Amino acid sequence: MIGRLCVIGVGLIGGSLALALRRAGVVEEVVGAGRDDNHLGTAVALGLIDRFDTNLARAAANADMVVLAVPLGAMYSVCNAIRQDLNPDAVLTDVGSAKQAVVDVVRTTFGKLPACFVPGHPIAGTERSGVEAAFADLYRGRRVILTPQPYTSRMAIRAVKAMWEDAGALVEEMDIGHHDRILAATSHLPHMLAFALVDSLARLDERAEIFRYAAGGFRDFTRIASSDPVMWRDICLANSEAILDMMRRYSYDLDLIADAIAKRDGEQLLRVFKRAKQSRDRLVV
Ligand code: NAP
Repeated sequence: MIGRLCVIGVGLIGGSLALALRRAGVVEEVVGAGRDDNHLGTAVALGLIDRFDTNLARAAANADMVVLAVPLGAMYSVCNAIRQDLNPDAVLTDVGSAKQAVVDVVRTTFGKLPACFVPGHPIAGTERSGVEAAFADLYRGRRVILTPQPYTSRMAIRAVKAMWEDAGALVEEMDIGHHDRILAATSHLPHMLAFALVDSLARLDERAEIFRYAAGGFRDFTRIASSDPVMWRDICLANSEAILDMMRRYSYDLDLIADAIAKRDGEQLLRVFKRAKQSRDRLVV
């Protein structure tokens, strides 16, 4: 049971967590925090939070659990705002999509990494954002990865794990560098491909026709290009090395396919496509 939960950033991710925990009856009070009275008022009206405060330090003070659910680029100013007012027994966690960058921000703003800070990342989401996109079942059966640091308190880890489990998620721990590399491959690279594909086609003269005839495959492949541009700019800047590494690798493999097409090498194309089909059929469940 959490006494007072403070969610800073009541959008898709923070709002869904607040709602799931309220529905599960495992939190006494949820205080929302952010910049915009209207968004936060909507969060109260939708039953995501009990009350709100746009003064982040005041919202976080006296909370038992503080969840940072703002875009990665806002983590620095948010941590700076709350660092002096956190209750000494509070647990602090975040939901950022790249973990080393958040750990660096928390270490810099707090002076050292607090033992009560548990970096976390729910592997769940949609292409929608904002308070109205939140829903209680977002985390049901989905994974949440925690990347605790050497001095992270085991008690804090247990509290964050229990919170996510109460929201319906399956919780795992992972080395932080490994997390950033794996997510660069499975989430960040596909978003780069989707953004680049839609942007490239949208600048062709025949764009109206191209999008008019877009069928299911195109829609499936490009759905994530409707994701929030600010969030994705921040993820690119926060996990740049791992993303660039994956993009270079992918570019190289795409060039091999282009070469095979140019040389009319049907055997090579078939080899690549068969290998890809087998991998997807076997590995993606
Ligand atoms: P979102 O729906 O846009 O929500 C972000 C919230 O943060 C907004 O409600 C916004 O509210 C608040 N905010 C923005 N800047 C702020 C600032 N400077 N100070 C205080 N509050 C601020 O975004 P989201 O999809 O929930 O993403 C939030 C975090 O979750 C990001 O770090 C992202 O990397 C991570 N994440 C996202 C997904 C996904 O699929 N979307 C999945 C896993 C993890 P106001 O405008 O009212 O301030």
